[in-house]
Amino acid sequence: MDQIIKAISEDGFVSISVITSRGLAERARVVHNCSPVVTAALGRTLSAASIIGSSMKKAGASLTVRINGGGPAGSILVVSDDFGNVRGYVSNPAADVPKRPDGKLDVGTIVGTDGMLSVIKDFGGKEPYTGSTMLVSGEIAEDFAAYFAASEQVPTACAFGVLVDRDRSVLAAGGYIVQLLPGAPNEVIDAVEENVAATGPVTDILNGGDAQLLLEKVMSGFSPRVIETSPVEYRCTCSRERFLSAVLSLDKAEIDDMVEKAEPIEVCCQFCEKKYLFQISQLLHRS
Ligand code: ZN
Repeated sequence: MDQIIKAISEDGFVSISVITSRGLAERARVVHNCSPVVTAALGRTLSAASIIGSSMKKAGASLTVRINGGGPAGSILVVSDDFGNVRGYVSNPAADVPKRPDGKLDVGTIVGTDGMLSVIKDFGGKEPYTGSTMLVSGEIAEDFAAYFAASEQVPTACAFGVLVDRDRSVLAAGGYIVQLLPGAPNEVIDAVEENVAATGPVTDILNGGDAQLLLEKVMSGFSPRVIETSPVEYRCTCSRERFLSAVLSLDKAEIDDMVEKAEPIEVCCQFCEKKYLFQISQLLHRS
């Protein structure tokens, strides 16, 4: 089962959120029929959004992440609720590029670097908070680290990984976001950097290990205290009612046109690919 573990160092200077996301990344792959490299790009973004969404601490809040790097995958859009349950899609899920010389999936190339990472935090109030940064590498983790440094002024290290099996299913997925709290002394900063370097690729640990092991590696020497452990999953919030009201909110000319054609209207949810069929009589009745 996928989960997020949040912990803090004994000295209070280092906070970490670790996610295991094999299940939700695999669900996204199946729903959208993604190529392996797109599965990796989308899975990493879902993992990051899940952690950030789960830290919003406001009931009903939501987080939207949009990555528009101009690569063959097109744009990535991911939404998280305040528990870290996520959904998302990619413009071109079947896009593919050759593997890198080291044999790894070339996420940076499929995503591209000619664009922005945007984060929209909607707390249910008036204006949502929006922060955007230029993409650094298209590898997702580095792009989120740059976002945190520029938009939220929080020194952050993060890593996300998705390991795809030969049959295209997700073998392991997850990652972490580690942040330094104000006043952290230099030796703490150095120690975190050393731990991150020593931890290496997250899928090396998660393929056979678990979130706890990943947490212990990144927080080595900091006696981390677990604050919270919570389950997360791929979850769509679409409904027949929601789509009907969307159809009805089209302008009158478009609705008249549909009524004239007298064909049932099919609407497909971008997040879960579920199809909803509406009869013309429903439009007539409501409009
Ligand atoms: Zn849906």
